Amino acid sequence: MARPLSLGAERPGSRDAAASYPNSARRSGRKPGIRRALLPLLGLVLVTLSACKTSPVTGRNSFNLFSAQDDVALGRDAYTEVLANAKVVSRGAQKDMVERVMSRITAIADDPGFEWEVTLIDDDATVNAFALPGGKMAVYTGILPVCQDEAGLAVVMGHEIGHVVAQHGTERMTRSLGIDVAFSLLNTGDYEALARSAVQLALELPYDRGHESEADEIGLIYMAKAGYDPRAAPLFWERMGALAGGRPPEWLSTHPSPETRTRRLEEAMPKALEAWRRAAGEAP
Ligand SMILES: [Zn+2]
Repeated sequence: MARPLSLGAERPGSRDAAASYPNSARRSGRKPGIRRALLPLLGLVLVTLSACKTSPVTGRNSFNLFSAQDDVALGRDAYTEVLANAKVVSRGAQKDMVERVMSRITAIADDPGFEWEVTLIDDDATVNAFALPGGKMAVYTGILPVCQDEAGLAVVMGHEIGHVVAQHGTERMTRSLGIDVAFSLLNTGDYEALARSAVQLALELPYDRGHESEADEIGLIYMAKAGYDPRAAPLFWERMGALAGGRPPEWLSTHPSPETRTRRLEEAMPKALEAWRRAAGEAP
């Protein structure tokens, strides 16, 4: 795997723009000079304003240079790379179930134009699932026995969809690349480089606990709105915990401790149950 892009984190553009303005203005003493000096600063202010986002469901404020359309473009490239050597399940009841859960949850998800797609990967030894920025997802057959049924699978996929709609992947990329590098890659349309970074982050580095808890909460509300009983969520995580034993599977090891997770799910449960009952009442 190519090394991730990590240069430039210490070089925020704001410092250069702010520092150069007073000197150049003093030197020239002319209005066009002032205007020229102000342009980068103005650009940065606009970028910064448009980079402030609010997560759906939780209302958390975040800083992310990438638009939903950027997420879609780089996620598409990254998905091709990830699936290049995967053994894909192309038909059958399991594949149908995975696609049904995807379409039921994404039908009610906050969606500014993501490109939803899920692939079931034939790998019974891998208890895992992941999503890339923009809506591309993979579920490994190894996690299906832990899901037990469709509601259990909705817990996993709701969580992954939560990462997508809150744009966690590119929020992390904004942080790890640094504002100026991320901005210049976006400006030049270098989605290949961005995709490499996205793959590396999605598959190898754990999300922080804040992102995990947020994905849990969004997933819980979404699965309920899609008509799946949200009480399946704490039960699923208990099974994952029991399965882990001394050596937790990769997905679990990067997620919050079982106690924290259960507590937070229980806090959000009344709201989820209300959404579930409403969805059931509205169903034809
Ligand atoms: Zn996660």
